[in-house]
Amino acid sequence: MSQPTAQSVLASVFGYDAFRGQQADIIDHVVAGGDALVLMPTGGGKSLCYQIPALVRPGVAVVVSPLIALMADQVAALQQLGVAAAYLNSTLDAESQTAIERDVANGTLDIVYIAPERLLQPRTLNLLQRASVSLFAIDEAHCVSQWGHDFRPEYRQLAMLAEQFPNVPRMALTATADLPTRAEIVERLGLENAAHYLHSFDRPNIQYRVAERGNAKQQLADFIDREHPGQAGIVYCLSRRKVEDTAEWMTQAGHTALPYHAGLSPAMRAHHQSRFLREEGVIICATVAFGMGIDKPDVRFVAHLDLPASIEAYYQETGRAGRDGEPATAWMLYGLGDAVQRRRMIEQGAAVEDRKRVERAKLDAMLAYCEIASCRRVNLLGYFGEDRDTACGNCDTCLNPPETYDATRYARIALSAIYRTGQRFGTGYVIDHLRGAHSDRARELGHDALSTAGIGDDLSAKQWRSIIRQLIALGYIRVEQAYGGLQLAPGCRALLRGEQTLELRVDRSGKRSRRAIKKE
Ligand code: ADP
Ligand code: ZN
Repeated sequence: MSQPTAQSVLASVFGYDAFRGQQADIIDHVVAGGDALVLMPTGGGKSLCYQIPALVRPGVAVVVSPLIALMADQVAALQQLGVAAAYLNSTLDAESQTAIERDVANGTLDIVYIAPERLLQPRTLNLLQRASVSLFAIDEAHCVSQWGHDFRPEYRQLAMLAEQFPNVPRMALTATADLPTRAEIVERLGLENAAHYLHSFDRPNIQYRVAERGNAKQQLADFIDREHPGQAGIVYCLSRRKVEDTAEWMTQAGHTALPYHAGLSPAMRAHHQSRFLREEGVIICATVAFGMGIDKPDVRFVAHLDLPASIEAYYQETGRAGRDGEPATAWMLYGLGDAVQRRRMIEQGAAVEDRKRVERAKLDAMLAYCEIASCRRVNLLGYFGEDRDTACGNCDTCLNPPETYDATRYARIALSAIYRTGQRFGTGYVIDHLRGAHSDRARELGHDALSTAGIGDDLSAKQWRSIIRQLIALGYIRVEQAYGGLQLAPGCRALLRGEQTLELRVDRSGKRSRRAIKKE
């Protein structure tokens, strides 16, 4: 029996006439028995990269995926195309399980999806040893990385596939591909000899925007009404409470908005998800619990009402917009409180110190992204190891370049005020001090007599908040965890000594006060 070619399978089974991007190269390499690391953004077409080799190579392909909830759908879609596909996970009854195991052993299946914890069971490994396995495709491979946000300990044990099945090609696929994660996937999954296929992570049809948070609900309503009325979108919030609130408020405002978070019953979650997928113009208000593996092509916007934990999370969440290639918007609100809240979550979290260090570094990168005055896409792609030197023309900083000003003097004043008041007080106190609005407490402490008292009264409280927010994001000021006190960070020395100047951006929403910022 002669093998079908990749090209003929593409046409006869999937009904497509051409491969996209690097699909053809990846498929050829794996069909020939090579290992591969495939980094491709969501919607890029990763599935075909293992589904076609599965049909071309003799034997059954094992697809490892943590997304149990999606397996049934994926398998049903393949079966519709006439592919002999099945899945093994905890949702099956004993009888169906036995039937599928028999098919695997007999070699009548082309593809079997298996949850990692199931794969690792001796019973399953035994079965696969007896069967003829054509390839292992490890989907969502970033789950092996502690740097990643979806770390799954079972994924670590997949390293043994290399030893137990030395002659079976293995491929790891993921849409999360910053450099640390990439290195960890290679190391942890024994992919030292794998060919790397790095697709560009650019999603040119997504417009990236960050706005300073004011009245968040009103801002969100304006954004949707003006730019995406009646269209499908996802609104991400940090807490379940806020998800509920937002969904309720948006429903009252006349939208079809449904909540989704881990605190809802599985039935309700499934119901809301299916309405989002099947009806038009549904807005899902969700925590990050929503979205992994969701394939809805016409999501026109993804809004973040709270700061994501990392660039990877942000990229993955915003990546759910515009999969059909049509224009879409990634819109985020950001304010001073975000940095403080996120830091507190890290410090108060249960993670070990090493993990916290990773999380702090990720948060810093996220904050820097929010504050940059240059192209956001260049910054994002740079984070994924893609160097671009031209601005994109489709992000807010490109479309509407932020005005910047020399904030050296103000930054130094703020740092001195923090230092002189003892590095114990929060933003509000420091701003009052700078503006000469001394409370009884401040007088008691003698702060009204310090040289920095009232020295910044030429700026509004709002302008000072903007400056302090940027100084935190840029790493000049640190926020002490327990009480939110501002402290000097080591990086501020050069600035205090007058060895460095600092440009900050003028906040857009502070247009009126812009003129008040005098250039020295
Ligand atoms: P990913 O897993 O990378 O997020 P998918 O594999 O789900 O992406 O593919 C995204 C969409 O693109 C799917 O609807 C798929 O059918 C389609 N697709 C993939 N490759 C091709 C191709 N060569 N030609 C046409 N459509 C494709
Ligand atoms: Zn840009």
